Amino acid sequence: MAGRTSAERAGNSVETYSNFIDGEWREPQGGETVDVMSPSDGQVFAKIARGNAKDIDQAVAAARNAFEEGDWGRLSAVERGRILMKLGELITQNAEDLAQLEARDTGKPMSQARADMVAAARYFEYYGSAADKVHGDTIPFMQGYSVTTIPEPHGVTGHVIPWNYPAQMFGRTLAPALAMGNATVLKPAEEACLTPLRITALAQEAGFPAGAINVVTGLGEEAGAALSGHGDINFLAFTGSPEVGTLIQKAAAENYIGCVLELGGKSPQIIFADADLEAALPVVLNAIVQNGGQTCSAGSRVLVEQSIFDDVVDTLKDRFSGLTAGPHDTDLNCGGLISAGQAKRVIGFIERAEQAGIPLLARGKIAAGAPEGGHYVAPALFGPVPENSEMGREEVFGPVLSVLPFKDEDDAVRLANDTDYGLVAGVWTSDAGRLMRVGKRVKCGQIFLNGYGAGGGIELPFGGVRKSGHGREKGFEAMLEFCATKTLVHNHG
Ligand code: NAP
Ligand code: MG
Repeated sequence: MAGRTSAERAGNSVETYSNFIDGEWREPQGGETVDVMSPSDGQVFAKIARGNAKDIDQAVAAARNAFEEGDWGRLSAVERGRILMKLGELITQNAEDLAQLEARDTGKPMSQARADMVAAARYFEYYGSAADKVHGDTIPFMQGYSVTTIPEPHGVTGHVIPWNYPAQMFGRTLAPALAMGNATVLKPAEEACLTPLRITALAQEAGFPAGAINVVTGLGEEAGAALSGHGDINFLAFTGSPEVGTLIQKAAAENYIGCVLELGGKSPQIIFADADLEAALPVVLNAIVQNGGQTCSAGSRVLVEQSIFDDVVDTLKDRFSGLTAGPHDTDLNCGGLISAGQAKRVIGFIERAEQAGIPLLARGKIAAGAPEGGHYVAPALFGPVPENSEMGREEVFGPVLSVLPFKDEDDAVRLANDTDYGLVAGVWTSDAGRLMRVGKRVKCGQIFLNGYGAGGGIELPFGGVRKSGHGREKGFEAMLEFCATKTLVHNHG
């Protein structure tokens, strides 16, 4: 497979991946690499290019050329759409290999990695079929005029993605941008970027012309900062932490361009006393266990009406004690967390909550025989969690669930809105009126009524308010982020 360089061809067991620029695999100009580790055992199994500002310059120039002069800019919308759909097909054909690689690179259980490949393919299928469906208007104006609007691609778009769902994020951010006709430069996360590189190789097979997709790997503060601050980028798309999101937004401001930011959350699931608990609790559990809680839309706060608080907590305690974390190929509830640093960060949250006297209600297990060097954290359930505590307000990004009691509907809405975030929420009740009332009052970008889908639904517009970011990804709306309206005013007399 393209993407591996001389070291691998010479039989070296550690594969080395290069950057992909202007339709070819290129060694990084600084000549350095970064180790790629598996969270399941902490062992280095590959190396990626440590791209720097010079590689980013080349990638942006290649994208600019593809957009302005090259074959990519000349394609019609329907032709672009067909290439995207072809890539969706190729991802599906290679799904098992990609899932194995994703699971090894991120530590996630195999079944999660397989589900991720279905979603990754779906992004290219969905946006491929949307490519020829964004069109302008004619606007009635003064006598003697005709007015037409044209949605135009921005040009060169820069994309920075995190490590939690590398293949899905590749599709989520690039597919709508490409469908609209932009040429793209991607900086995936240093911690996990092998499936984006493999899918980039498949993209060449699908027929993307040189320069449409460029990928530079490496460190955030080097390649990421060089990309987001580059003067020839026309739009930025970022998913990750609020801290880096702020840097991205500042970089966008310096260059007078727009950006879409998706920055995580502390998403509430509100359970009223009249809820169908049999339906609700497995979903509530899955929403925090999925991907070891390393999901921006993880349902990490469960708000429970006081009268059923003890019952709900008892059931959750039971289920949490039965959870096990272990290597990706054993396909347990959770895998290792992405890095030793992330595991330490999550353990820090757990220890500080215990020191603050918040009851630790249940703890899952780490599988017997899980490799010592793996980054495992046993799932943890806390409650009742004080609303103003760190555990009640901050994003942990690990398999840690907070349970908080509420008194009535107003109190539930107040609590749901009482963090700096606003990404996703869930409401569980058998009262249809209340579902809609609460659905309208909770401040977030996506709300599930008697359900919850952490990360689910390619068709569903997704994004946040406040510290969760702004702009919308997924759904047809994402197409509109990646274009700008030009208004043609024709004075024909
Ligand atoms: P992060 O630092 O925000 O990383 C996200 C992406 O931004 C990565 O590709 C990263 O590159 C890049 N980056 C880092 N510094 C940059 C800079 N100065 N300029 C441009 N790009 C830069 O997130 P993290 O450190 O991986 O995780 C920290 C916390 O963020 C997590 O614990 C979690 O709370 C949150 N998070 C949220 C999401 C989400 O889906 N919303 C995803 C991941 C993390 P490198 O990684 O290669 O340095
Ligand atoms: Mg890795």
